[in-house]
Amino acid sequence: MARGSLLVVGTVAYDSVRTPAGRRESALGGSGAYFSVAGSYFTGVSLVGVVGEDFAPSDMDILRSRGVELSGLETKPGRTFRWSGVYGAEDVKTRDTLDTQLNVFEDFAPSLSDAHRASGYLFLANMEPSLQLDALTQMSPRPRLVSLDSMNFWIDGSGDALRRIVENVDVVFMDEGEARSFTGQVNLSAAAKAVMGTGPSSVVVKRGEHGALLFHGDGVFSAPAFPTERVVDPTGAGDCFAGGFMGYLAATGDLSEAGFRRAAVVGSVMGSFAVESFSLDRVGSLERGEIEGRFRALTEMAAFAPLGEGESLPWRGRQDWREE
Ligand code: AMP
Repeated sequence: MARGSLLVVGTVAYDSVRTPAGRRESALGGSGAYFSVAGSYFTGVSLVGVVGEDFAPSDMDILRSRGVELSGLETKPGRTFRWSGVYGAEDVKTRDTLDTQLNVFEDFAPSLSDAHRASGYLFLANMEPSLQLDALTQMSPRPRLVSLDSMNFWIDGSGDALRRIVENVDVVFMDEGEARSFTGQVNLSAAAKAVMGTGPSSVVVKRGEHGALLFHGDGVFSAPAFPTERVVDPTGAGDCFAGGFMGYLAATGDLSEAGFRRAAVVGSVMGSFAVESFSLDRVGSLERGEIEGRFRALTEMAAFAPLGEGESLPWRGRQDWREE
């Protein structure tokens, strides 16, 4: 498999979700499914995971229709991973998990083919941290870039195992609450620095409708969120953010500061599509112009005139008001 190719190991799930906009039962979801579909608009993506015998051929077709490479998606006896959650009526960012059934994921051990092991870019999607470590240790040679996502279910239940894998990756994606609970730091810059102090060179803190902060080396970049009015279901927004981010980097190979900044904006664009429908309905059927249009709109939104050579901001100091 080419060094520019992107591998994701993660869950493929049936999600039952209730949001202020409505509800959807047993719909295609999962960290690996959302990520691979979002990334597939930019580069070839291989998905490694497991589904049960109840997994519908039509759902396999949704992944296939985006050209996701599925040789590593096993079907095992038993039921597919299931998750259900409910979002706050006042603040759609607040989510409660009602139920998590690992099902076939309980006995899952990722087994990577030679082609998968040689992928240049790896995303360890939200799943049990020991599985993330297992997948990473199989890679040979080490990918150009390894990133990881997690969630409170694992931060609370398997924090030590998660810390061991975080130390070994380049980029960590977390939402605000996860960054705080993982590090014990309330301040987001302090939380990001605490994570980076253990190994990763970048941390992306996702802040929902407030965009995302990319901590990269000594710099910080603030990627705006696209202000969509159609928030139907936030499930998978984080995975689609990561899919856009990693897909862009794998497609361009540009791991410079400028490349990372663009990747964060592409991530923000893909997250904004994910929230506009339940399941993969919207993010699975995008046109090129829609993605480009939002990227250009965000470029416009974030632009402001820099101070020119020798120019400074207006300033009224003590001396000035004393003399007035
Ligand atoms: P996100 O909204 O981006 O955080 O991702 C939500 C997706 O993660 C849903 O589609 C779920 O199926 C999946 N998910 C929920 N809980 C877990 C878990 N404990 N481990 C792995 N995947 C999960």
